[in-house]
Amino acid sequence: MISLVRRIAALCALGAALAACGAPEPTHHLRHHSASPSATVPAPPTLAPGPGGLPSVFTNGPRNKKIIALTFDADMTADQGTLAAAGNRFDNPGLIDTLRELGVPATVFMTGRWADEYPEEVRYIGREPLFEVANHSYSHYSFAGNCYGLPVLAEKQMRSDVEHAFTAIRKAGVPHPMPYFRFPGGCYDDQALRAIKPLGVTAIQWDVVSGDAFATDADAVVRQVMEGVRPGSVVVMHCTRTAAPVTEQVIRAVVPSLRQQGYRFVKVSEMIRASAGRH
Ligand SMILES: [Zn+2]
Repeated sequence: MISLVRRIAALCALGAALAACGAPEPTHHLRHHSASPSATVPAPPTLAPGPGGLPSVFTNGPRNKKIIALTFDADMTADQGTLAAAGNRFDNPGLIDTLRELGVPATVFMTGRWADEYPEEVRYIGREPLFEVANHSYSHYSFAGNCYGLPVLAEKQMRSDVEHAFTAIRKAGVPHPMPYFRFPGGCYDDQALRAIKPLGVTAIQWDVVSGDAFATDADAVVRQVMEGVRPGSVVVMHCTRTAAPVTEQVIRAVVPSLRQQGYRFVKVSEMIRASAGRH
């Protein structure tokens, strides 16, 4: 019961944070890339900038297609090296193997610090065509003031923090991370969007909080996902064994159930592509 109350409290806090951050309505105008002839990797779909040229913020896909994007945040904060050395597991290879075994496409938003810590896993995820790797900042510090008590980045550090994460991911062995950025804690404001504008990334939020962070009751997380998803949903989960120990169990339950309901799992890139032409 206590954990349920905590979970609900955390969810409310998240809802409040998102509301306070003023998540704008997504515009969903697909940017049409013309890949250069020499490019061997097709340019991933991104959303054209929104008002004022600020990066668009994507929260969900089309509501008339039974597709769902499962997203996994590989969180590790820049100051958590000593915790990792002490045995905390910020990775979750079992979860990745389960997704692979079940054939579930997924988008992994990793921090650069995580990529530095687990380069072999980064390569493993990056090599698997089911998955795509995106950017969750280097430090996992807040881009918008008070955000779950995370240390706060100064505006002038924001752009370089995101660039640093791309560099770390490439260095770990993923040459083409997706141009998608998820703000730590999902906290952002116009100043943060302005700071990362030169990077040309699409900001990716979500419309379903799985509640897997610090959860110990897999059934409760399964219920929350099953009750929350709709066509076009983007679900946020975590790829950190110590801080999200039941996620693998949750996947084993929700994937077959949702498939039975006619849902298909897609990566964020496919969800963005499917959103084109809706307006
Ligand atoms: Zn995170």
